[in-house]
Amino acid sequence: MLNLLAPAAKRLSALCCMPSACRLCGTWQSQSVCEGCVKGTTLSARRCHRCGLHLKEDAIESICQSCEDYPPEMDAVVVGFDFVPPWSSMIGALKFRSDVALARVLTAPLAQAIRQSDPTGRQMPDLIIPIPLSASRWQERGYNQAWLLAHQLARECGWLNRLHHGTLIRRQETGRLMQMQRDQREARIRHAFAVQPEEIHRVQGQHVALVDDVMTTGATANEAARVLLQAGAASVTGWFAARTPAPKLGQRERAAQ
Ligand SMILES: [Zn+2]
Ligand SMILES: [Zn+2]
Repeated sequence: MLNLLAPAAKRLSALCCMPSACRLCGTWQSQSVCEGCVKGTTLSARRCHRCGLHLKEDAIESICQSCEDYPPEMDAVVVGFDFVPPWSSMIGALKFRSDVALARVLTAPLAQAIRQSDPTGRQMPDLIIPIPLSASRWQERGYNQAWLLAHQLARECGWLNRLHHGTLIRRQETGRLMQMQRDQREARIRHAFAVQPEEIHRVQGQHVALVDDVMTTGATANEAARVLLQAGAASVTGWFAARTPAPKLGQRERAAQ
């Protein structure tokens, strides 16, 4: 598996060292996205600690009502930016158009959000695990965008020895879950993941960070977290480059019609 992933990682590393214009504003500098544009993301927004959705500015609690009512499997969620333009089109280019250099761009706000969430670095995870693709999807795409993001993050922060991509496997793809009701989603995603039997010792008692490009409903990541916790992980945090915002009230009503 490592050998198969090596060409994408090598290409990514080479591209990361080249000076470039900011992918968002065009300023010529050494980063793929300039500091100003990273700051212009929604990093300062108040988000629910458990699911990453926006909280009202005047909210007293640090978690939303939905997470109060239905506590997710993940202990915490850290998000780089909302899944809105221009970031959403960059995620699309990373995922569907092999623009692997974007892994660095898309990781920058997430890395900053992780540092903000734990300034002392004392609660950093023991293991970093990208959400896996199924073998068929991986063959079709040639790479796993979650692995590229996790690798970039681990490389930047000096955690490469904590990155493990063969520990969690995906037995099946689940398709789009967004339009489904909560129980339909849970039934569809159930048993999609497994911890490799020979890797169980690696997760036992460990704090795991799961990495993915986008958190939409959270069903996929929460099922992966459930499987890791069942295998003995002490806790699971989700790290997502992007978070799909909750639909506005009017959109929600139209969707329900
Ligand atoms: Zn810029
Ligand atoms: Zn929440």
